[in-house]
Amino acid sequence: MRKALLVKLAVAGMLVLTVATCLAQTSGHAPLLTQAPAGKWAIVLHGGAGVIQRSSMTPERDKAYRAGMDEAVRAAAAVLDANGSAVDAVEAALKKLEDNPLFNAGKGAVFTADGKNELDAAIMDGKTMMAGAVAGVTRTKNPISLAKAVMLQSPHVMLIGAGADQFAASVGLTQVDPSYFFTEERWQGLVRQLKKDGKPIPPRPAGAPPEPTKPIAQLETPDAHKWGTTGIVVRDRQGNIAAGTTTGGVQGKRWGRVGDSPIIGAGTYASNESCGVSATGSGEYFIRLTVARTICSLVQYKGMHLQDAADDVIQRQLTALHGDGGIIAMTPDGQIAWSFNSPGMFRARLVEGGEIQMGIYKDEP
Ligand code: ASP
Repeated sequence: MRKALLVKLAVAGMLVLTVATCLAQTSGHAPLLTQAPAGKWAIVLHGGAGVIQRSSMTPERDKAYRAGMDEAVRAAAAVLDANGSAVDAVEAALKKLEDNPLFNAGKGAVFTADGKNELDAAIMDGKTMMAGAVAGVTRTKNPISLAKAVMLQSPHVMLIGAGADQFAASVGLTQVDPSYFFTEERWQGLVRQLKKDGKPIPPRPAGAPPEPTKPIAQLETPDAHKWGTTGIVVRDRQGNIAAGTTTGGVQGKRWGRVGDSPIIGAGTYASNESCGVSATGSGEYFIRLTVARTICSLVQYKGMHLQDAADDVIQRQLTALHGDGGIIAMTPDGQIAWSFNSPGMFRARLVEGGEIQMGIYKDEP
């Protein structure tokens, strides 16, 4: 009798599994891995949120963005596989995205209304609660490494402008001519925006390559990629969380504007007591809602599940204020989440021993 029941249960279990697999296959997606097992490292990354739709992406661009995220995730994974720290993994991944002209960070950053690239970045170590941030840097090749140096090699948390670049040089970080950050696509994006807004167009930056002879239309990036900041949250094998964010900010910014990315608690936060978060979107709203810290506070003080906390802040609070964008997040016990209210967000996650799961558009898991 008991044996018969067990057989029935086993058959029912197999049926459920088969149906679930079929459903996953017919929707074309494997279900997302939302919980990393203890003792294994885990990575969740974003490459910016915005009006990113299939209709505005060529298959080549889609592929290139996915390859960029893949490269960054693998850089973090290599550090973690070698028993490296979450902080070092954050830096390794974000350096790749800063060096990749497709993303709005480092080379490929958006331009200010004055035709400059002003870069912001932050990193936080959830184990020590130490943090480093920089804003408005123009000469340091990898702002995320500078943020890390501020955290580990200075008594401060945040440095800005020329002073931050000076500190970078003093600790031996590669300095470049500001024209290093120039890309034609971002420049044309600025020109297009300023024309549309009836604002003056600054001269082409000194040191930029000569104006292309191809018709400009061919080089235009659709306004789609309005945001494009990059960020990552990592848990290492020891269970420590670290988070980092790096960006050129928003296109056409003026007056030394700084967004949420380098503001600890707004665009970036990590604590082994609660969670790690990196954000992307309309920074002013993320600052006002202290998005990253609020999500972690909901987890820490209300005992909320990470995904519910993230959805509460992004889908409810941010949306109510008419802010756009999203976040990626992870807890020390291995919960992984993302949430965004924009049509798309470049995003990827990987747990040690598993496959990279990646998405761009809203209809992906
Ligand atoms: N959050 C960034 C900022 O406001 C922009 C972005 O995410 O692309 O500076």
